[in-house]
Amino acid sequence: MDPIREHLHRHLDELTDRLAEWVAIPSIAGDAEHQGDLRRSAHWLAGEMRAAGLEASVLESGDSWAVLGEYSAGPEAPTALVYSHHDVRTVKPEEWAETEPFIPVRRDGRLYGRGASDAKGQALAHVWALRALRDLDGGAPMNVKLLIEGEEETGSPTLAALLEKHAERLACDVIVFSDTVQWKADAPAPVTSMRGTVNATLTVRGPDRDVHSGVVAGTTVNPAITLAHALAALHDEQGRVRVPGFYDGVAELTDERRSEFAALPFDEHDWVVRTETRVVNGEEGFTVLERLWARPTVEVMSLIAGDPLGLPRSVIPRDATANLSIRTVADQRIPAVAEQLRGFFASVLPAEAEYSLVIDEAVGQEPYESPSGPLLGALERALERGYDLPVRGRMGNAGGGPADLLTRTFDAPILFLGTGLPEDHWHSSDESIDLRMLHSGAASIAHLWRELAEVLSARP
Ligand SMILES: [Zn+2]
Repeated sequence: MDPIREHLHRHLDELTDRLAEWVAIPSIAGDAEHQGDLRRSAHWLAGEMRAAGLEASVLESGDSWAVLGEYSAGPEAPTALVYSHHDVRTVKPEEWAETEPFIPVRRDGRLYGRGASDAKGQALAHVWALRALRDLDGGAPMNVKLLIEGEEETGSPTLAALLEKHAERLACDVIVFSDTVQWKADAPAPVTSMRGTVNATLTVRGPDRDVHSGVVAGTTVNPAITLAHALAALHDEQGRVRVPGFYDGVAELTDERRSEFAALPFDEHDWVVRTETRVVNGEEGFTVLERLWARPTVEVMSLIAGDPLGLPRSVIPRDATANLSIRTVADQRIPAVAEQLRGFFASVLPAEAEYSLVIDEAVGQEPYESPSGPLLGALERALERGYDLPVRGRMGNAGGGPADLLTRTFDAPILFLGTGLPEDHWHSSDESIDLRMLHSGAASIAHLWRELAEVLSARP
């Protein structure tokens, strides 16, 4: 067996126990009640980094704390910056069946608990990869800086300022982004693109106040119906987004990219089972994986009007609100998409409709595509060694992240290496991490530093 895989396998129980201890800290983002937990989570990680021989600092950022762990191989060695996060999504404890969100449980080869996969498992895999290289080789062959932020789940509102403030300390030759999923535990493939994301909230107003429908039904505007009409107009029968101009910026899907996706072992039934999505739907003319990674989407995340909770009051509601999530692909840009949405709703809503459309452009994230070349080759070799399996195909990441911000700030290319799986229930109940992914993921990371050091040191 590969010595790195063997070493990490021997320490997998210990690594899992450490992860469980960390997951028990409810570092929920964007919740004032949990600010102390975010701070505790940051200090926990800093301690874990120091135990692995790294220098660690906790950096205050906005309402949270980021952790910077630094491993130095010397001034001549190339440098990688790793990005991940330790904050987690909020929970609905009543919907958790396997465990309480913050009382981690190990079961059937998985560790359950909020943040186990998104993204504490990924961040800790990095720390343990460096531990393995310290134990086996005396250290990594390149400089590694682990930046684990604490505001990812609220859209990283102060990350840009944090990067700016510590720009010199974070300077790097390559960025490794570890907040993504792998294709399958037994079919590793590199992620080479990430969709962008932007949210919009549409509120349609009706009467001045909730009014008993028995008094006015049939005589006034019902904002729930007006909103439903507008949302129904978003897609045509072929599943295409009807917002004018929406596809103008979309780069054409090349034959090469199509064949990279097609090379992944994909079975529609298996996909539906793993994602618990029941049925496959979407844009005609594209495969499921093409829709997922190379096509932009508009989805409705929530729809609120009237009395969604408690006893119905039989009133025509004062207003109706929908929250939209827009996923973009290269080369769309958020300001253009925002403009297109404004134009679209102005045209589909009745002229007399009173409404507001709020688009969070500032916390939106642009899409990103990794360049192909020797760095990607290094990542593929690292995955093959870390998983001890052949790499077939290449994939994308359907969700967003601050990839574009990182690459612009440091003028360095990004490689994606995550340890999650689509079936891990990110942001949902019963989140868990497959312990095989923790093992193979950490082994791949350790191999990546070896492979990258070789590629980067050979550069003129
Ligand atoms: Zn995440």
